[in-house]
Amino acid sequence: MTRSLELMLITRARGHGVRAAVVAAEGTFSYSELLDASARVASALLGGGEDLEQARIAFLVPRGFQYVAVQWGIWRAGGIAVPLAVSHPARELEYVVADADASAIVAHPDFEAVLKPIATSRAIRFVSTTEVLAAAPPLSLPGVDERRRGLILYTSGTTGRPKGVVLTHANLRAQVSSLVAAWGWSAHDRILGVLPLHHTHGIINVLSCALWPGACCELLPAFDAERVWQRFADGDVTVFMAVPTIYARLIAAWETAPAASRKAMSDGCARMRLMVSGSAALPVRVFERWREITGHTLLERYGMTEIGMALSNPLRGERVAGSVGTPLPGVEVRLVDEEGRPVEPGAAGEIQVRGPAVFLEYWRRPDATAEAFRDGWFMTGDLAVVENGRYRILGRKSVDIIKTGAYKVSALEIEDVLREHPDVRECAVVGIPDPEWGERVAAAVITRHGNELDLQALRDWARQRLAPYKLPARLLVVPDLPRNAMGKVQKPEVTALFEAVDRV
Ligand code: AMP
Repeated sequence: MTRSLELMLITRARGHGVRAAVVAAEGTFSYSELLDASARVASALLGGGEDLEQARIAFLVPRGFQYVAVQWGIWRAGGIAVPLAVSHPARELEYVVADADASAIVAHPDFEAVLKPIATSRAIRFVSTTEVLAAAPPLSLPGVDERRRGLILYTSGTTGRPKGVVLTHANLRAQVSSLVAAWGWSAHDRILGVLPLHHTHGIINVLSCALWPGACCELLPAFDAERVWQRFADGDVTVFMAVPTIYARLIAAWETAPAASRKAMSDGCARMRLMVSGSAALPVRVFERWREITGHTLLERYGMTEIGMALSNPLRGERVAGSVGTPLPGVEVRLVDEEGRPVEPGAAGEIQVRGPAVFLEYWRRPDATAEAFRDGWFMTGDLAVVENGRYRILGRKSVDIIKTGAYKVSALEIEDVLREHPDVRECAVVGIPDPEWGERVAAAVITRHGNELDLQALRDWARQRLAPYKLPARLLVVPDLPRNAMGKVQKPEVTALFEAVDRV
């Protein structure tokens, strides 16, 4: 093995040896066991070859040890990991496998029925986690230069279907090491992982940041508020990270718990050192209520799949509600006006980011990549202002990006799918503010021939085509859509239609 080109994460893991790396439904696994299991996965994927040479390996494994072993195995074999989402219907899975041009799919046996046909139709290899984990260890593994691509994460934008965000191993190292330093990670930490592992928050901030310093990552197979509170009450978890919707649900569970249990729940939090919120705006109400019931001041941060984390409130020092703090180590951030010029102090502008954590490209979309950068800065499309030296997020430039439960979804993608419905003649999708979800997907529809359409029927139909969080939560059948003189649908006016209904 060319040790000099071994990935830093792997080299570091050797030093963590018998420490617990992953705790999951399958049991507790040390770093040595993770190294052994991932080497077997790599060996199975290589199948006698020397190096996957950045072939894309799509994988669908529930949150647990096998997920981590497969992800590391792909990396160690020189492949690009393309995590699929457990919640996605076949159509979305197929899209990612095809767009990434994956050469193989690795899946937990639970997902074989949905993924094997996709592999067969594309004439690519299908292999189960049982098979790859049972492979003989490799005699040697390739050296992997960290400038190589390591991960493709699919994210929605303003251009319809999701794009693959390509991160090199150097990007991943920059993202992880910045957070490990800023948030004081150490081998003594134990994090409870409840976030999806096809998204940057779960993969980078939770899983990879824990495994970098030799900490323990405990993965719950599904989010369950009672189970999370139980684990907090046990008192051995030190770090927790979630999206605002999850904190809102934990607050609701605390409020309905018996008074006697509440104290144990709150006391457990007192032994934790850090609780982080991000991926969507943290409502001040949730920030304050969380502090009241747990004594913890949530650390809110701002980031994006393309850049990792960019802004964060401090580990030590004042955390201000509604603020996302200051740039993280190694990350350059600036605000610019419409012409791309840095704004005057105190003025609002678009956030631009530069630095080693910023992604390489959108997979096989050179035009989209070129459009996303200006003078070497990545244009986030988010608007912010600096107040008292801290950034405050004001919103997004595009109305076509909806954040629901911290999932980023494209209004245009949903519209394209809804237009396939036999009773939909035209439609416009918008995000409607919601205290629990941040925003909810709302569809205004003109039906064909004045046919009736109800929300449940539309959702049932769309469920085969869209991930659950993209399904419309609101439906309004309208005779016409508000348009400007050019015929373009006026999204703010569509939002107003829903607000008018709510006021009645
Ligand atoms: P994603 O790539 O799915 O993580 O989505 C990134 C987007 O989430 C950003 O471009 C922001 O619009 C939004 N976002 C992330 N963190 C925050 C935050 N703390 N406050 C407001 N919006 C956020």
